[in-house]
Amino acid sequence: MRKPFTPQLVYFEPNALEYPLGKELKEKFELLGTEIRYTTSHNQVRNLPGDNDFQRYRVAKSTLVVGIRKTLKFDTSKPSAEYAIPFATGCMGHCHYCYLQTTMGSKPYIRTYVNVDEILEAADRYIEERAPEITRFEASCTSDIVGIDHLTHTLKRAIEHFGQSELGRLRFVTKFHHVDHLLDAKHNGKTRFRFSVNADYVIKNFEPGTSPLAKRIEAAGKVARAGYPLGFIVAPIYLHEGWEEGYYHMFERLDAELPLDARDNITFEFIQHRFTKPAKKVIEKNYPMTKLELDESARRYKWGKYGIGKYIYQKEEEEDIKEHLYGYMEKFFPNAKFEYFT
Ligand code: SF4
Repeated sequence: MRKPFTPQLVYFEPNALEYPLGKELKEKFELLGTEIRYTTSHNQVRNLPGDNDFQRYRVAKSTLVVGIRKTLKFDTSKPSAEYAIPFATGCMGHCHYCYLQTTMGSKPYIRTYVNVDEILEAADRYIEERAPEITRFEASCTSDIVGIDHLTHTLKRAIEHFGQSELGRLRFVTKFHHVDHLLDAKHNGKTRFRFSVNADYVIKNFEPGTSPLAKRIEAAGKVARAGYPLGFIVAPIYLHEGWEEGYYHMFERLDAELPLDARDNITFEFIQHRFTKPAKKVIEKNYPMTKLELDESARRYKWGKYGIGKYIYQKEEEEDIKEHLYGYMEKFFPNAKFEYFT
């Protein structure tokens, strides 16, 4: 996706129009001539256009619902942060392995919440509870927040809010390059801006509707030059023909783009490809032509929560992945902080 996302259809909860952001979004979509509908609740959007599930899924992914976040109790978000901060739910991307396909089930449309002040106040209460410890908030647990932020600027407000906070920290990850409006935010080093990166083959085949690798890397360079602490999540690490060169080339390109003075405060997280049986079913339904390899017999079974185990790579493959990726990281970014491999 080279152009920033514009929804084809927008729903408003009537109460959302009592908030300045709700009003602003309505004016914006009226000017753009986008079809506007109303819904009593952002949890109950029914009758999306389309003749079958396949079509309705695609329409939902380009539908934006503007609502109010009622639950201000935050979920925990280990290992990367203490809490998930809920500014939005859903994403316009079409990554075949996206975890949202299973977690959002019948509601794959994108929701944005206009009661941003209340969400930030709730975050401040969590920070107070844990003082004098630092409290980290992850803003991308249920969406790719950067992908819609050019419309709402909610993330920008949050970055500036945490910029003023002594003990609060913000972090998020994105597969989009539309970062320009965030470059002048007064972050004061309190926000870690992470990009999800992968080998070209993986992005091209399994991540339609997101930004190409070159664009993500270019955006990471801009973010680094704007002084943000930077991070990369290499996920999912996927074995394919020529994967060693593919990931090497990815590191090489990061190395070519990132300014030297930004390299002492970079983090890396590595996540190998995995799937569950329910996820496999949903992927095959939503992306029937996918080339994604989902053969349980080729994988190792790892017991999981609620009896739903996941299929990960065999031990030797896992060791091979670790050896290669750690090696590349150390070669190109010897001062980076490695956070975890999972
Ligand atoms: Fe899912 Fe992230 Fe892809 Fe969006 S960009 S579809 S949240 S994996």
